[in-house]
Amino acid sequence: MSLRDRLAAEIAAGGPMSVAQFMTRCLHDPADGYYATRPALGPEGDFVTAPLVSQMFGELIGVWAVAAWQMMGAPARVRLVEMGPGDGTLMSDLLRAARMAPEFTAAAEVWLVEVSEPLKAKQRRLLGEAVHWVGALADVPEGAPLILVANELLDCLPARQFVRTATGWAEQVIGLDAEGELAFGLANAPQLPFPDAPAGAVWEQSAAQAALGAELGSRIVRDGGAALLIDYGRGEPGFGDTLQALRRHEKVDPLACPGEADLTVHADFPAVLSAARAQGAETALLTQGELLARLGVGERAEALVRARPEKSAVIGRQLNRLVAADQMGELFKAGVIHSPGWTPPAYEDA
Ligand code: SAH
Repeated sequence: MSLRDRLAAEIAAGGPMSVAQFMTRCLHDPADGYYATRPALGPEGDFVTAPLVSQMFGELIGVWAVAAWQMMGAPARVRLVEMGPGDGTLMSDLLRAARMAPEFTAAAEVWLVEVSEPLKAKQRRLLGEAVHWVGALADVPEGAPLILVANELLDCLPARQFVRTATGWAEQVIGLDAEGELAFGLANAPQLPFPDAPAGAVWEQSAAQAALGAELGSRIVRDGGAALLIDYGRGEPGFGDTLQALRRHEKVDPLACPGEADLTVHADFPAVLSAARAQGAETALLTQGELLARLGVGERAEALVRARPEKSAVIGRQLNRLVAADQMGELFKAGVIHSPGWTPPAYEDA
């Protein structure tokens, strides 16, 4: 039975499900979930991420990781963690750039947090066996400082949606219409603390994103280190329905083909970072454009053009895609969570 038919049967038997439950099933159902069965990144796949736009992205994250390690006092051992490494491109580019600091690569133990078996196989092909795989951050052993990166992970963590109606707040849920098709509906919800929100306003709440912020915060306060989280999302609290399904680079109806499309919501940086601060960590936020500019993406692009003049136009387009305000430069944000008492690279006056 298809995932759609199984979800319809479950809803018929047990009632509507929240958007968060629906996202979890579509992404991670063991038999038919998107990441469990068919994640496809890149131009031939369903969506393209920054590391796949250009090698410059992962290389500059590598420069950031080395500089962060140096600012931390160059500890003899550090856990270099990536959550949701996709096909492994970011870590591969990061490690190549980090080779200019052999003491760093000697100190860094690489841990990949991944739940998708097909993606783990791709990562293994690119990165070999010299890295460790775990299914959850909690399985990365404690007791050494952390340098963690995650690109486009927060957006796959499930969120609930609440809608302002004429009479108050309701939860957006997925039920069945008269023909038995999956359909959005409304269910009773606790009232949110925004009495003046306009009718139709949508408030998203991701317990999973906030829980990750708290987990990173408490861990980094205990062991030291920094976590760099890059994603499309909001930098200020705000209303908006950001649930989006992407299949072969096209937006599709999120209810139309469960498990066959990537399904995301915006990263909620205010919620993630405040959850980390509540654990005693410090945080800061830049746009992706600002982060990459401060790490020297302009100079890196020039160096690549000098080495390959015939690629000048391509490299210019890649740079524009990563940093331009109407491309990934502003919608994408880079949040950092770090232990108190220092400021990670690029965040000096952020
Ligand atoms: N960082 C990569 C891939 C982004 S796609 C890039 O930028 O190209 C999202 C990644 O997060 C995939 O690797 C997916 O398998 C992983 N992922 C999704 N949900 C996850 C979860 N709950 N825990 C850990 N990884 C998850």
